[in-house]
Amino acid sequence: MNKFAQLDRQFVWHPFTQMRDWLKGEPMVIVAGKGAVLRDIRGREYLDANSSIWTNLHGHNHPKLNAAVRRQLGKIAHSSALGLANEPASLLAGKLVKAANRIYDSKSNPSLKSKIGNPKLEKVFFSDDGSTALEVALKLAYEFTRRMRGRSAGRTSSRAAPPKFLSLAGAYHGDTVGAVALGHIDLFHRSYAGLLFKTDQVMTPYCYRCPFNRAKPERADAREYRKCHWECVGKVEQKFSAQKKKGNSYAAFVLEPLMQGAAGMIPQPPGWLRRTTDIARAHGALLIADEVMTGFGRTGTVAAVCDRRPSSGGFSEGHRPPLQQNLFASHHEGVQPDFLCLAKGLTGGYLPMAATLTTGKIFEAFLGRYEEFKTFFHGHSYTANQLGAATALANLEILQGAESVRARQMLEATLREALPALWDLPNVGDIRQVGLIAGLELVKNWRTREPFALRERAGIRVCEAMARRGVLTRPIGNVIVLMPPYVTTRAQVRRMIEVLRLAIEEIFPGNT
Ligand code: PMP
Repeated sequence: MNKFAQLDRQFVWHPFTQMRDWLKGEPMVIVAGKGAVLRDIRGREYLDANSSIWTNLHGHNHPKLNAAVRRQLGKIAHSSALGLANEPASLLAGKLVKAANRIYDSKSNPSLKSKIGNPKLEKVFFSDDGSTALEVALKLAYEFTRRMRGRSAGRTSSRAAPPKFLSLAGAYHGDTVGAVALGHIDLFHRSYAGLLFKTDQVMTPYCYRCPFNRAKPERADAREYRKCHWECVGKVEQKFSAQKKKGNSYAAFVLEPLMQGAAGMIPQPPGWLRRTTDIARAHGALLIADEVMTGFGRTGTVAAVCDRRPSSGGFSEGHRPPLQQNLFASHHEGVQPDFLCLAKGLTGGYLPMAATLTTGKIFEAFLGRYEEFKTFFHGHSYTANQLGAATALANLEILQGAESVRARQMLEATLREALPALWDLPNVGDIRQVGLIAGLELVKNWRTREPFALRERAGIRVCEAMARRGVLTRPIGNVIVLMPPYVTTRAQVRRMIEVLRLAIEEIFPGNT
């Protein structure tokens, strides 16, 4: 075993990893990367099929990102944002605000221009990762709501019930305590229940396993053949109404737009986002969009999420918004949140940095004389780090260039063409693609949708078989994720899908 693998085994505790299993094997030590390829210490190459846990956008070792880091290193790596401004973070905040308000740009999106209630995003609070981006939104929304309610009640109320939050079943918003409280994955949250504040959950539109979907399983994405009456939207309305009756309407509705990631790559049927966020707004709730996974072009073109069936309640053919590459998932359905939480792809997968964008109205609620102590008492040592910000600026420039737009369209189309070949495997229950993200749910029997028990490690075993063939990804339970960097070539995407097929055939022999 090489020296680094030995040291790792001796000293490193890995995230989301059963270390007893880890210690049974020899860790793969990555030493280099280029484009969609990772190389380990033995010289073996692997395709990075999940973009290094959903962070990488333009490939590894990208010349422009490398140059941006080097340029910034020649000036300064870091100085505090507590009391000081800096060049790249100021520029980045401006560019992020501009990109986030493109929803109002009449050239880019005429049909979505005047959505009632859609605010403008004007301020950027930097932090370190997805979890902290959510913590910032959570604390701001909490305190904003508390102050507004206190003001309308004519007091700075501390006796009123604390503002409450609604998020989706299966939600995952990070691992810091506030973000954990917003989540609803039992396995991750159960142990820490005593540490957490209570949030409510509402049904997520998981069409493949929806109790209201009366359709028999077909060999297609469950969103396309579902038979239902949008009961999932009705559930959201019911939740908001019930909470209102309690006299403490929800302060905010927290969600991942278009696709819930760690919940198991659960895509929302077209129209769901618009409908449910309209309900939230009508009840006066703030919207917190967790675009940690979905942000920065991951959700592809509008066409990818438009419903083909005119009766679906999604966008009808005649009113389909123009084809474009939205950078943010919320914008696909004309939704602008009050908080846009960004991380992962913000630096193209290079450095840990996050941003929470919010409105002037939220910002103003924290203004006052010093001694009023309305200040937002929150921040981190590396907030607005220059290396991260400089890399994020280069990332945005690449992302907005024609070459990247073309690459994203090509990647999305290749996934769309190649994935259906896997329907002939009986252990494939659902294949769901939103833009450049695909989830494939393994089942015991596609006709009954019978799931594998988690202890059978179906997803893990398939991913291990993929790794043996040179493709790296991590499962979410029984769901295999394909989310390659935008620069992945057609041949590489096809190879990933072929390897996925071979891995499923190896793990479930006799079922093909
Ligand atoms: N929100 C979402 C949607 C995520 O997918 C993740 C991470 N997978 C997080 C928040 C937390 O981000 P981080 O791991 O960077 O703290």
